[in-house]
Amino acid sequence: MTAPATLRIGQGQDIHAFAPGRPLWLGGIEIPHDQGLAGHSDADALVHAVMDALLGALALGDIGMHFPDTDPAYRGVSSMALLARVRNLVEERGYRVVNLDTMICCERPRIGPHREAIRASLAAALGIDPGAVSVKAGTREKFDAVGRGEALECHAIVLLEGQARASQGGQASG
Ligand code: MG
Repeated sequence: MTAPATLRIGQGQDIHAFAPGRPLWLGGIEIPHDQGLAGHSDADALVHAVMDALLGALALGDIGMHFPDTDPAYRGVSSMALLARVRNLVEERGYRVVNLDTMICCERPRIGPHREAIRASLAAALGIDPGAVSVKAGTREKFDAVGRGEALECHAIVLLEGQARASQGGQASG
């Protein structure tokens, strides 16, 4: 008997302070800018939000549990390398990404010129069509730390589809 498809939704969020003398990575793309984001890893806040959305969809905890920033192994690590590991966790459980919707909030730089590169990068990392990846951008209208240009914040929502398994607590199908 074929198990019914199971849909799972997950959300992720991340915020990093801007810091001088660092590259700015978003979605695995280096964005030309006069400062980057502070952080233990490459500080790719968009990829961090996407990873938390993927983990959240399957109730697998968060990236702090999987890749603790107290572990020197993750100093300066490529967030895209960690995303590949999270993708493996998803696929090992029989799930695939249906679509991903993301939001980048910052005053500067302008994200629009880099949107398609970021979409393509995330789509390739997840093995899905760029048409299933949305990258939106907005400012905070001068409110709060993001609005003052001190930080960059990202949000992600992902939908996964997989085959139901008994071990996941779904209703027995007889
Ligand atoms: Mg982060």
